[in-house]
Amino acid sequence: MTAKERMAIEPQKMPEQDPAVRAHNMREVALGYTPEQAQREATRCLNCPTKPCMQGCPVSVNIPGFLAQATAGDFKGALATIRESSLLPAVCGRVCPQEKQCQNFCTLGKLFKDPEKAVAIGRIERFCADFSAQAGQVGGDEAFNPSSTRPHAKRVAVVGSGPASITCAADCARAGFKVTMFEAFHKPGGVLVYGIPEFRLPKAIVQREIDGLKALGVDVVTDFVVGRTLTLSDMLDDGYDAIFVGTGAGLPKFMGIEGENLVGVFSANEYLTRANLMKAYDEDHVDTPFWHGRRVAVLGGGNVAMDASRMALRLGAEKVYLVYRRSEAEMPARREEMHHAREEGVEFLMLQNAKRVLGDEQGRVKGLECLTYELGEPDASGRRSPVAVPGSEFTLDVDTVVVAVGNGANPLVAATTPGLDVDAKGHVLVDPVTRMTSIPGVFAGGDIVLGAATVILAMGEGRAAAKGMADWLNRNAGEGETK
Ligand SMILES: Cc1cc2nc3c(=O)[nH]c(=O)nc-3n(C[C@H](O)[C@H](O)[C@H](O)COP(=O)(O)OP(=O)(O)OC[C@H]3O[C@@H](n4cnc5c(N)ncnc54)[C@H](O)[C@@H]3O)c2cc1C
Repeated sequence: MTAKERMAIEPQKMPEQDPAVRAHNMREVALGYTPEQAQREATRCLNCPTKPCMQGCPVSVNIPGFLAQATAGDFKGALATIRESSLLPAVCGRVCPQEKQCQNFCTLGKLFKDPEKAVAIGRIERFCADFSAQAGQVGGDEAFNPSSTRPHAKRVAVVGSGPASITCAADCARAGFKVTMFEAFHKPGGVLVYGIPEFRLPKAIVQREIDGLKALGVDVVTDFVVGRTLTLSDMLDDGYDAIFVGTGAGLPKFMGIEGENLVGVFSANEYLTRANLMKAYDEDHVDTPFWHGRRVAVLGGGNVAMDASRMALRLGAEKVYLVYRRSEAEMPARREEMHHAREEGVEFLMLQNAKRVLGDEQGRVKGLECLTYELGEPDASGRRSPVAVPGSEFTLDVDTVVVAVGNGANPLVAATTPGLDVDAKGHVLVDPVTRMTSIPGVFAGGDIVLGAATVILAMGEGRAAAKGMADWLNRNAGEGETK
């Protein structure tokens, strides 16, 4: 097929649940391509010699390679190609900010001067992973099979079970190490299970990846809080030869405004954890205590704020406001999530911000006083800074406020591990190549190092740390051990 013919193919639309229906159920919003759609969308790729899309991918997936296989209908081969660089294609195909990464660099988007015309790389990636999973392969494909595993006497502990830890554990297990993963919650998966809602990332998909890890021989221990159940130093004393710390950025930040302690104010983390991990939406089967807000204000403009506001609708709120102090152009959330939130009925209040939460005599939220803002000069982040307009106060009639203005590093491991160096914000400091921390044999990666980032970056860090660990362990292997 000529380039002209490829360019003439219309971008394939993703089938989705109707907004009015999906705003009241937890089922996945985007329904996924059919095989025909996936093949047709992949055929749009021009196979540019310079492969600009790969430059936009933090883990350098061979995108033109897997698109060529999908074009030929070889979805299993396409998945194997993706898996060479990315362990979690079913997850990344759903939640990666492709519009800022690979698809942002796609030549088609540039030629048509329309980002919507870029090849839908993420959707094809998702299709390839789901297609193989439906074919019944553990972990979504055969790349999970431990065929390359060589037994090794060294023991590795992985702390946390988010994407950084999953990737590190899989790579270490494939390298032949005996790996145990320790997770504080009762379910492994990190933000993929406790934060990102079911309607965006079905939990069965995350479980599939965890099953793949177990098939590789990784022991998964839950309800184990490192720093409480045992410290990192205890674990080294117990005979772990190396430890990976992937504890994430789960410490919620608050606004520091009056009324934030009132009943009915939540961090987005708590709100989403009760709803997702503790399944508060499934009232017939669980007894998770939950505050059913009728009129909800969510503060923030990132993916977490989008998830919280859409979750509030699904939990029965009649009115949901999204309050953000800059304009839409500065919002860090994925465009698709913003579009979905709007379609479902979330009202966006741009250039506005909370000043104080108002309470009734019983200490419950009865309103939110806000201020209007204007954009001033660019700040350190390069975005124009919000400047409050004096005297512009107004009150929103709400009974619930969800604060989604960012998360800091989980502090427990650093606080209980003498000698583990962190920066002023509590991020663990690592060697840029090996990812080893200030303690020999202890490595770290993901949000605990980068600050709140993305799934794909966390995975990349987990992979880099696994390589650093393997090199270090092999260098330090004792007499008679398999190397
Ligand atoms: C609501 C929400 C929506 C998001 N949406 C997106 C999105 O659409 N796209 C995207 O790319 N990124 C998104 N992100 C960001 C992304 O999920 C994170 O960057 C990523 O999960 C970080 O991975 P991680 O492995 O470093 O840590 P995490 O996923 O945070 O996992 C850390 C794990 O460590 C465990 N842990 C912590 N302390 C201990 C301890 N002391 N002992 C044992 N276990 C411990 C935690 O319980 C947790 O399970 C979102 C984040 C949130 C909160």
